[in-house]
Order: sequence, then C-alpha cells, then structure tokens
Amino acid sequence: MSVTHRLTAPAPGWTAATDVVVVGSGVAGLTVALNVRKAGLRAMVVTKAVLDEGSTRWAQGGIAAALGEGDTPEQHLDDTLVAGAGLCDEEAVRTLVTEGPDAVRRLIATGALFDRGEDGEILLTREGGHHRRRIAHAGGDATGAEISRALVAAVRTDPGIELIEHALVLDLLTDTEGHAAGLTLHVMGEGQRDGVGAVRARAVVLATGGMGQVFSATTNPAVSTGDGVALALRAGAAVTDLEFVQFHPTPLWVGPDAEGQLPLISEAVRGEGAHLVDADGVRFMVGQHELAELAPRDIVAKAITRRMQEQGADHMFLDGRHFGAEMWEHRFPTILATCRAHGIDPVTAPIPIAPAAHYASGGVRTDPRGRTSVPGLYACGEVACTGVHGANRLASNSLLEGLVFAERIAADLAGRHAAGELPERTVDVAAARAARPVPLPPSEARADIQRLMSRGAGVLRSATSMADAAAGLALIAEQAHSHVAEEKPADPRVETWEAANLLLVATALVAAAAQREETRGCHWREDFPERDDAHWRRHLITTLAASGDPVSTPEEQ
Ligand SMILES: Cc1cc2nc3c(=O)[nH]c(=O)nc-3n(C[C@H](O)[C@H](O)[C@H](O)COP(=O)(O)OP(=O)(O)OC[C@H]3O[C@@H](n4cnc5c(N)ncnc54)[C@H](O)[C@@H]3O)c2cc1C
Repeated sequence: MSVTHRLTAPAPGWTAATDVVVVGSGVAGLTVALNVRKAGLRAMVVTKAVLDEGSTRWAQGGIAAALGEGDTPEQHLDDTLVAGAGLCDEEAVRTLVTEGPDAVRRLIATGALFDRGEDGEILLTREGGHHRRRIAHAGGDATGAEISRALVAAVRTDPGIELIEHALVLDLLTDTEGHAAGLTLHVMGEGQRDGVGAVRARAVVLATGGMGQVFSATTNPAVSTGDGVALALRAGAAVTDLEFVQFHPTPLWVGPDAEGQLPLISEAVRGEGAHLVDADGVRFMVGQHELAELAPRDIVAKAITRRMQEQGADHMFLDGRHFGAEMWEHRFPTILATCRAHGIDPVTAPIPIAPAAHYASGGVRTDPRGRTSVPGLYACGEVACTGVHGANRLASNSLLEGLVFAERIAADLAGRHAAGELPERTVDVAAARAARPVPLPPSEARADIQRLMSRGAGVLRSATSMADAAAGLALIAEQAHSHVAEEKPADPRVETWEAANLLLVATALVAAAAQREETRGCHWREDFPERDDAHWRRHLITTLAASGDPVSTPEEQ
C-alpha cells in the first residue's frame, strides 16, 4: 500500500532523520516520545504550534482510573461499556482499565502533581456515567495543564528527544514496501529548516488530537483540525467511528454567534452537585435518568437540546450557587475566573451553557498495540480509534487512553527494535511524487465548513440536514478543483492545508453519519430515533477511494 493522495505543496527543500517521528505534543505524543527513549530509540516530536497548544492542557475534570478504595478495573469497565452503547471493543477497554492505574502512577513519577487530601491520598471526584469517585485531578480544575507541564518538562530535559515547534505535518512518506518511512512537513522556522521539508524515520506515530474545529462551536483549540485523520486517509489507512462526535453538554454560552473555542464548564462541577436548570429554575434532568445531571454526556446533551427546542431558548443554566464562594475559589478556580471574565459570577448567578463539539470518539483505526492498517504507522490519543470509546466516550477516559496506548506503542516499537524488525527506511521518492495532489480550498472555507457542519451534522442530525451539509462541502471541493483548472489555485500555506484537512474530515464524517440510520451513543438521528442493534451494532470503516472521496463501509457483523 502506498500514499495515494497528498496535499498540494512544494517539494521538500530540506531533510532530517530520526528513529521515531511523533506528530503532536499532547499527552499521547509526549508519552510515546518519553517511552521510546527507554528502548534507546531517538525520537523527534513535531508539533503545529508550541508544545502545550493541544487539547491536553485544556482538560479540566481529570483522569479516570480505579485508584480509590473499593473501586476495581471491572467496575470502570462496566461504566465504560455502558457509555459506549454497544460498540466498545471489550478487550481494548479491559486493557485501558487494568493498565490505567499504573499508567497514572508512572505519570506521577514523571512529575505530575495531583490533588491530595490531608492524609496524602489522591483526591477522587465523580463525573457523568461513573458510579464511583475515580477521577484524579490536579490544580482543582487544571488537570491537563499540570499533565502537560510535567510531560513538557520531562521531554525538554532528554537530549535524545528533538522538538520541532511551529511545524505542520502534511503527509506520510513510505518505502517501496509501503512501510511508513517518514513524513513531509512545513516548518515556520529560520535557517536550515524553513518551509517544506522531509523527515525520514523507522516508524511514524500520529498523536494529532481531535477534530473539534470541524464545527463552529467547540471546546477544542484552534490546532484541532483533524489533520491526523486526513493524513491517514490520504495514506490509505482505515478510519472508523467518525460519526460519533461527543458534544459536551456544558460549555459556557457566550452569545448566539459564538465561534471557535468556547470555555468549558467541567462535568466535575455537576459531579460536585451543581444542577442543570431552565430559565424558570426547573431541574429538568431529574426523572430522565437515574443519575440525573450525572447521566452520560450524550443523554445530558440531548436533554439540554430538547429543552432548548421546547422553550425556544438558545441556552440553559448550570446552577452552583449553593457551593458558596470558598468552594468555587478552591475547587474550581479556573472556571470561576473564566466565568467572571465573561461577566458571570457563578457564586451569585446560574451559568449560561449550551452543548458544543468536544471529543472525537472515532479516528484512525488501531489494534491493541497502536498499529494502524499501514505498516509502520501508529496512532494514539484522540486521533486514534482503539475501540475504547465505542459510540460515546466516558468522561475522563481520554487522557487515560492517551497514556495507556502511547505506552503500548512505545513497547511495541521497543520489541520490534530489539528483534531487529525496525530497520532504517528509504523513502520511495517516485511513489511520493506519483500521489495525486489534493486541490486546496481558500482559507475562508474553514468558517463555511464549520457552519455547514454545525447546522447539518451537530447534536441533532437527519437525512435532510446531512444532505445539505454534504452538498455544501461538495461545492467547496468543486470550487477548489475549478480554481486549479483555471490556474488560480489557493496558495499552499498553513490555513489552506488546514482547510483541506477540515474539508476531507467533514466530508468523511457526514458520509458516515448519513449512512448510520439509527440513534446510538452521541450520534442522534431525529429521523431514526431508536437504537437498531439488528442492523447497526457494527462499525463503519472509512477509506479513501481512488477519486479522493471518502467511502464508508459497514464492518461484517
Ligand atoms: C476543554 C477540554 C476539556 C477536556 N477535559 C478532559 C478531562 O477532564 N479528562 C479527559 O480525560 N479528557 C478531557 N478532554 C479531552 C482530552 O483533553 C483530549 O482528548 C486529550 O488531551 C487529547 O490528547 P492528545 O495527545 O491526543 O492530543 P492533543 O493534546 O490535542 O495534542 C495534539 C497535538 O497535535 C498537534 N498537531 C495537530 N495537527 C498537527 C499537524 N498537522 N502537524 C503537527 N502537529 C499537529 C497539536 O498542535 C498538538 O500538539 C478535554 C478536552 C477539552 C478540549
């Protein structure tokens, strides 16, 4: 197998080499880099902006693991399977929950400081879908920032890890056997490594995070443009479960025309007892689910959206006034400061909230060792679909998944290296040149794609809404092709490469979501409101056709 399509870009003007090139510097990427070093392999971490720019540093609530007294991996497994609505890979979940507690302890040994009680024990909170207190947190509500700080500090002190910031990875390079042999990238740098270049490596690890920027309203940072999924598709890899986008129920509502990254009011606020209420102060989750406000996220997001529809409102409220000022200041200092910066004081007023795109449960399909369907190409963290989340991610399982499966990739690479199965690779330059260049949409297409997706493939979906989105996306693609034919192509640069990635990922997502004619997990079809296990208890696998269009095929049952 070789790369069939590539982003339109100038030929590489410089080259570099390493053993393992890791794309992305969140919890997943940095954990891979630190762990492959233990096997004596050199690592290069390539990242789009600065090291801590991904979703990891925004994570608030914490990291889930069976660390508390009376809790067990088996109970964590049960809660994860329930949230995943029949589509989790049970073995992958078992791996997550059994290896998770020690992975968290190793993270602590790396330097991450978790909140502890007076007895020195790690404090654990609850979040939606968890029947136990099992969420470890740091800095109150700044867990991701602390994890990121600790991992960044660790990679910076390791001379065997080369860090390249402000570097947008474009496409995979392979050798004549179709094994990953490196990648092309664009560096906004100075001197030797400036502009488009190529990195040669024995293996490539994608840890590019999520794709929230496909939608107008999201909790994800600007770098979360689905680049890893788009790259994997162009490289011939299989991706899966793209239709399962989790919409967080309680991002801060900042106005009717809000776009881009929205501040998040963590689920932990509900975990500590805040109530969801409508404009009349009615707690509408009570009686809808045994866990009320702590029901799994899809149930809460749907209930909020339904209530908004019924009342013609564009937001609901989260009421935590009963916490009092002291608890807000100590337990949720970041959220308190963010709300106050937006003119809302949660101590005295309920917080306006509305659902927004939050987490991609699907992604590049991997096996339990993190291997994708392209030899030598690995994926972990939010870009990957390990099978852990099924149709909906359980809260705070994603940082844990990033840790556990990053460690497994490093172990696989170490094993292959020790067995002499990880030789240096020679890039098949002819194959790279033969890959078809994808026309680039103009940078303004980003906002158009986001609007189409939020309107057509957001919390509420139907055949009609998704046909509209698909038609709009097809038009953007056609225009990009016409501009090339008219010799007026968009300039290859970060904004247009990201727009091309967003377009491909959005098109693939809509195709899968339109095909799945049922409601399951975080995929909610207004025209097919029931879960349909007879037809749909299976995954949709998406690959790129020769035409460059994504095609989704249901997996055999
Ligand atoms: C607001 C918010 C709160 C959250 N709270 C929690 C929580 O409490 N608990 C929990 O478990 N999960 C939480 N999540 C989810 C969790 O933070 C993410 O799923 C997880 O951090 C993803 O880690 P990652 O390493 O896969 O990706 P990220 O941390 O997103 O890192 C991706 C990296 O890839 C880089 N990158 C992307 N594309 C390219 C490219 N083309 N070239 C080079 N580099 C590239 C980015 O710059 C970035 O460095 C939250 C997410 C958000 C947004």
